[in-house]
Amino acid sequence: MKVYRFISYNFKIFKKDEKLFSIEHRGFNYGDGVYETLRVYDGRIFAFKEHLERLKKSLDILKIKFSVNEKKIESEIMKLLKLNRVKNCAVRIVITRGNGLGLPPPKGKPDVSIMLVDIDKKIEEYQKKGIKVIFIENPRLYDFSIRGAKTVNFLPNVLGSIEFEKYGAQEGIFITKEGFVAEGTTSNVFFVKDGVLKTPHLDIGILAGITRKFILDIAKEENIPFEEGFYKKEEVLSADEVFISSTTREIVPVVSINDKKIGNKKPPPFTLFLLSLFKKKILK
Ligand code: PLP
Repeated sequence: MKVYRFISYNFKIFKKDEKLFSIEHRGFNYGDGVYETLRVYDGRIFAFKEHLERLKKSLDILKIKFSVNEKKIESEIMKLLKLNRVKNCAVRIVITRGNGLGLPPPKGKPDVSIMLVDIDKKIEEYQKKGIKVIFIENPRLYDFSIRGAKTVNFLPNVLGSIEFEKYGAQEGIFITKEGFVAEGTTSNVFFVKDGVLKTPHLDIGILAGITRKFILDIAKEENIPFEEGFYKKEEVLSADEVFISSTTREIVPVVSINDKKIGNKKPPPFTLFLLSLFKKKILK
């Protein structure tokens, strides 16, 4: 992943390789912060409101006192798009508790970084050809993450990514200690069985993905039957289609899980139909 040259730190523009942080930075020492990844299509930020709402929720959960000024953040992103001369990219906003060692947070000031990140060129190919996925069945890995918040404390996901890369897969799906299918390391999971779209319930503790929400909205609009539930691995393995969703990957079909082939229709019609409707939402 490439970060574009000009970045913003506390609403001032810097070059990305300038030294910005103190050795006492709490993001670096404790992973004490939250983040959002947004997507820009042709110079327009997609689902800005939804992402900023989730950012505020994450700040609340971590009790980081920072008042999010949406206008200021939006205009900073626009400034970065201009300076970096880019129209299609991801935006990463990181807010940490600032500086100060010692666990009880000192009265330091939170800091905000905004950077533009390029989109993996392989995503289009993945959307056409699908990806390989594995289940990550180490419950300790998943069960200590902070639920509902999008935090920079991302170790379970980093370790999960090491597992799926080792396997030659492109994503790993966490299984909870109760044996329920949860979410990918950076995505939500859906599957289709006998025409019904199914996805793990938020009560499992998964991230409320913005793309996930758009997909469920599409299902409502199109009268596609859907349910959110508690599913075991076997149900997903015997699905007709499986796909993952995220801001950067949108909707990507899954061709196999732990080397077991999913479904028998190539390309998976339901998944690609949803992807085409999602792409329409982007253009709106
Ligand atoms: N679940 C996890 C753990 C994630 O990190 C992400 C995205 O980074 C998602 C789900 C998908 O969320 P969204 O659709 O908002 O990008």
